[in-house]
Amino acid sequence: MKWLRDRRRKSILRHARLDEPVWQATLALPVLTGLNLAERAQLANWARLFLHDKTIFGAAGLEIDDRVRLAIAAQACLLILNLDPDWYRGWGEIIVYPDQFVPHREYTDEHGIVHESRYPMMGEAWLSGPVILSWADVASAGTLDGVNVVIHEFAHKLDMLNGDANGLPPLHGDMRVRDWAAAFKPAFEDFCRRVDAGEDAAIDPYASESPAEFFAVLTESFFEAPRLLHAEYPLVYAQMRAFYRQDPLARFW
Ligand SMILES: [Zn+2]
Repeated sequence: MKWLRDRRRKSILRHARLDEPVWQATLALPVLTGLNLAERAQLANWARLFLHDKTIFGAAGLEIDDRVRLAIAAQACLLILNLDPDWYRGWGEIIVYPDQFVPHREYTDEHGIVHESRYPMMGEAWLSGPVILSWADVASAGTLDGVNVVIHEFAHKLDMLNGDANGLPPLHGDMRVRDWAAAFKPAFEDFCRRVDAGEDAAIDPYASESPAEFFAVLTESFFEAPRLLHAEYPLVYAQMRAFYRQDPLARFW
């Protein structure tokens, strides 16, 4: 049904426009500045399709304007620049809070005790459900510090394409799970050991939470601090380059 999909896309692209001044301002985000002209054109097309397919809601009084919409679309589509918008299939909503939000969660442990958790979050991605973002944190993507909440949450979405987030997204036909595991498993163990030892890591220690968080945080590094990731975990960098079909290292340096 590829022809049907392509026809649908063509018809959307005929009508969907991006506000040009806002789009140009969005392209000035440091994480996007290394893109060449062809990549910028591709990103604009993916962003138009993305904004057509996804609904972005403001929560807690946040007004959703083009600045919010394009900042989210552009950074989300950076991950799939050389993949396809179909990688974000199966869900349709993005909820944006003005600032960090505090979800109220209750869960019951194996002893039947109910626990309550309340802590502020800058983003969340639900399996087959919405992506939730804090606009204050999205808007602070103005530095290449390896922290980027949009990239983080949308990496979870790619990971969830084959079920619960576990650090293993569906790989391309020319990749092997064995190679992915051989790169990520020792890197994750090494990183956890360094965090436990109190080492001052340049990568966000939150990556030691789980293989899923390791993948999401290292995707932030891949796009925002590729030199650092390549120096720390070159095999992980190589697997991510094969998965995202991009080489940010060549883009920035
Ligand atoms: Zn996460």
